[in-house]
Amino acid sequence: MRIVFIGPPGAGKGTQAVQLVKHLKIPHLSTGDMLRQAMADGNSVGQHASSYIQSGRLVPDAVVISIIGQRLEQPDCDRGCLFDGFPRTQGQAAALDEYLHQSGKQIDLVLALQVPENLLIERLLGRGRGDDNLDTIRERFKQYEEGTKPLFEYYRGSGVLQTIDGTGTPDEVQARIRAATD
Ligand code: AMP
Repeated sequence: MRIVFIGPPGAGKGTQAVQLVKHLKIPHLSTGDMLRQAMADGNSVGQHASSYIQSGRLVPDAVVISIIGQRLEQPDCDRGCLFDGFPRTQGQAAALDEYLHQSGKQIDLVLALQVPENLLIERLLGRGRGDDNLDTIRERFKQYEEGTKPLFEYYRGSGVLQTIDGTGTPDEVQARIRAATD
C-alpha cells in the first residue's frame, strides 16, 4: 500500500506517520527528515537545502524529487511506503505518479489531516524545532496554501483523497487514520 500524508505544518503528520508505519510495516519516507539528515551530514544536498529550510521556503522540486527517487529504488519500498511531507507541489505529485507508473505502481490513499490554524501555531511553537519560529511558520503556511493545497484537487480527481480530522489526542487521530486505511 502506498499512502501520502498531506497537511499543514503542525498537523501531526510526523507523529501519526511513525505510528501508522509500525502498524502497516512499511517504510516511512519523510523528505523533511531526509533533508535534515543531509544537513547534519553536511553533504551537497544538505548545503543546498539549508537556507530554504531555515526560512520556511520549499526546497526546489528537483532536489526533493531526486532524493525520493533514490529512496524508492531501495527494495524495502517494493511492498509499499508512507510518504510524509512529499509531494508538496503539483510538480512533485506529477513526478511521483510518473515514477510509480513506470513500475506499474500507484498511490492508493491520500490522507489530508485537517487542523484549525490557531491549534497549528500552538503545536508548532510548543515543538521547538529550529525552524519553528513565528516568521518561518507564517512562511510555511503561505507555501502550504499556495503550493500544496492545489494537491487536494489533484488527488480528489483520482479518487484517492480522504480527509481526516486532526484535532484531539494523537491516539484519537490515529484511530481515525486506521479506520481509513484498514
Ligand atoms: P517538514 O519536516 O516536513 O516540516 O519539512 C521541513 C522543511 O523541509 C520544509 O519547511 C521545507 O523547507 C523542506 N521540505 C520538506 N519536504 C519538502 C518537499 N516535499 N518539498 C519542498 N521542501 C520540503
